[in-house]
Amino acid sequence: MAAEPLVLAEGVRKSYGLSEVLRGIDLEVGRGEVMCVIGPSGSGKTTLLRCINHLEKIQAGRLSVDGELVGYAERDGKLYELREREVARKRAEIGMVFQHFNLFPHMTVLGNIVEAPIRVKGVSKDVAAEKARQLLAQVGLAGRENAYPRQLSGGQQQRVAIARALAMEPKLMLFDEPTSALDPELVGEVLAVMRDLAQSGMTMFVVTHEMGFAREVGDQLVFMDEGVVVESGTPRDVIDNPQHERTRSFLSKVL
Ligand code: ADP
Ligand code: MG
Repeated sequence: MAAEPLVLAEGVRKSYGLSEVLRGIDLEVGRGEVMCVIGPSGSGKTTLLRCINHLEKIQAGRLSVDGELVGYAERDGKLYELREREVARKRAEIGMVFQHFNLFPHMTVLGNIVEAPIRVKGVSKDVAAEKARQLLAQVGLAGRENAYPRQLSGGQQQRVAIARALAMEPKLMLFDEPTSALDPELVGEVLAVMRDLAQSGMTMFVVTHEMGFAREVGDQLVFMDEGVVVESGTPRDVIDNPQHERTRSFLSKVL
């Protein structure tokens, strides 16, 4: 039997009121794989990440992370909705990095990184701080622990956000257009950290329009439009040899 994928989506449907935003998504991400997702604004990319991260309920289909259904437990063939506490515990196993960093502005870099391990996991202050310093070194920000977010560039803030997510020792990292709010000269430093993370074996689900990154680091590339996966494959196949007109038209705008 092939190794079980870390993320498995089968026929996932999600609506907000009457509008169906995800209309039957099938995909799987293997352990240690990097999945890149592209698609026009409004195609459902962020919604898909939020569903994987237990922030949204789905209306149909199945979505599982590490063999467990997102938001539900299955016993004797029946589904039971998880309690909020249980949902929060599972969410803590997944790191999320946002377009606008979302650091706590009133906390130092160190404070941002140690907050969740101490509060959610009960890690001691000393252990959390030591780990935070290691992570800061890993993202190229050794020694910046006492800075406040506003004192850092966007690229530095996003690297802190990555360190903060890693501090929870996630089994999966989700990135939602992590470089699209950055000045062009700061994009590379964030992508370099993400590339290192991929090389270290982290499973990553990355919404990005950095096609160089997708081609070089991605194991799979998915093109979404209007709530469906239009096309997927290796980045090389999708970028160099798209099978659908919608994919070709979109790629001509981002390449
Ligand atoms: P993308 O990230 O690809 O730009 P989104 O997943 O953010 O797309 O949005 C997909 C669609 O769902 C859009 O039409 C958006 O307006 C709608 N949508 C997203 N979040 C909500 C919400 N909380 N309530 C209602 N509609 C939403
Ligand atoms: Mg989005």
